[in-house]
Amino acid sequence: MATHQEKKPAEGRKHQNMQNDTKASQGQWGRAWEVDWFSLASILFLLMFAPLIVYYFIMSCAQYQCSLTDPLLDLLTGNKHLSDIWNRTPTLTYRAAGIYCLWVTFQVILYMSIPDFCHKFLPGYVGGVQEGAVTPAGVVNKYEINGLQAWIITHVLWFANASCFHFFSPTIIFDNWIPLLWCANILGYAVSTFAMIKGYFFPTNAKDCKFTGNFFYDYMMGIEFNPRIGKWFDFKLFFNGRPGIVAWTLINLSFAAKQQELYGEVTNSMVLVNVLQGIYVLDFFWNEAWYLKTIDICHDHFGWYLGWGDCVWLPYLYTLQGLYLVYHPVQLCTAHAIGVLILGLLGYYIFRMTNHQKDLFRRTNGKCRIWGKKPEYIECSYMSVDGTKYHSKLLTSGFWGWARHFNYTGDLMGSLAYCLACGCEHVLPYFYIVYMSILLIHRCIRDEHRCSSKYGKDWKRYTAAVPYRLLPGVF
Ligand code: NDP
Repeated sequence: MATHQEKKPAEGRKHQNMQNDTKASQGQWGRAWEVDWFSLASILFLLMFAPLIVYYFIMSCAQYQCSLTDPLLDLLTGNKHLSDIWNRTPTLTYRAAGIYCLWVTFQVILYMSIPDFCHKFLPGYVGGVQEGAVTPAGVVNKYEINGLQAWIITHVLWFANASCFHFFSPTIIFDNWIPLLWCANILGYAVSTFAMIKGYFFPTNAKDCKFTGNFFYDYMMGIEFNPRIGKWFDFKLFFNGRPGIVAWTLINLSFAAKQQELYGEVTNSMVLVNVLQGIYVLDFFWNEAWYLKTIDICHDHFGWYLGWGDCVWLPYLYTLQGLYLVYHPVQLCTAHAIGVLILGLLGYYIFRMTNHQKDLFRRTNGKCRIWGKKPEYIECSYMSVDGTKYHSKLLTSGFWGWARHFNYTGDLMGSLAYCLACGCEHVLPYFYIVYMSILLIHRCIRDEHRCSSKYGKDWKRYTAAVPYRLLPGVF
């Protein structure tokens, strides 16, 4: 976004009262300044029920072979009491706490202590120190992009252990899955609470803080825009990428190892889930510099939504397919497996190409070719808190001419492929596509609301030029 924008002091505006500027631009970025009742109700719902939802899914697998209805039926018919289910749930163990502390510490060391070397020998990879977007207060943060390296080192060590050293079993994650859930929750709540306190008492950049005055909203959606410890420890980049996303592929590998241990083979569905999700994860790290320009980093503040979400929701619910396949080892017929593979790869291609087109367009300030032609775009402008006027461009060529969020469409196709890999016996593995649809449709609406207040009439011209959000002619 703003990195490729030309910064021009707006004529006449410089002399206006600063307070008016601030007021005028308050609505432009990130989360809301005022909380409507619907947002508040949704937030309270999520704060209360999101941890329960995670527990319910994981417990259903551990105690009910992944059936989502049987625990409810048991409770409703009085067959079981809540206490029966709770008493059968593994508690926090010293072993899990030790594993989790080691894991997070190791990721902190990889993040903070080893400057990126991958960009020195991998052609096309952008790593090392990179700049983020301009924040509402006009700050441009620097980031050490070394996620790919952290992912490679972690996985090399994992495979070295599994094949040579045997310090621990590759099923270690599965074997400690519920005790590790308690550890992840402790970290998720600790980091969100710390971020809130930090926002009040020692923010990294006070001008980039937002206070609605509503405790729950501020806790959930965050106060600080880019909380940091020291110059380099960036909460958003660290918690989203590692431990969350580095763990994703390790968790899947551990599930595959468990299948092997239990049934003496790894099914083709498990291989598909590992491969398709592995591509998605690797793509994330290969494009970590691009990630600095996505909504998570550019617009969202750091609160429980990102802090707890990255520690608990992501590793536990994005990996449900692998977990399900441990309990239900599905061997797909060749046609089904090929269908899933094609859908997954096609979804990934659309996701990547759409994101790439926008990135290339913004990076070159429109001086590029999209599908072999000069790109078409809408010129637009917006204002930062200090009253500086910025110019930007909205692409209307390539996939961005088909729909305003075709990258989400590709993501949804890929998500559906992971679910379809699990067959049709249970609904649990389909949670991911339901969740992603809600997340991305809500994100569309949230982003468009923000862009509309950021770009004003220019945004209207853009939506007139590209009328559909996800599917041309449908939505
Ligand atoms: P986008 O990458 O689509 O970024 C939206 C921003 O891009 C807008 O706020 C606007 O920012 C800019 N923009 C919008 N339209 C245009 C245009 N036509 N031309 C140029 N710039 C435009 O969204 P996200 O950051 O949400 O998503 C990035 C990727 O991450 C997506 O592919 C998504 O599917 C994926 N994702 C995956 C999630 C998961 O959990 N697996 C969660 C969320 C996202 P500006 O202010 O700069 O104009």
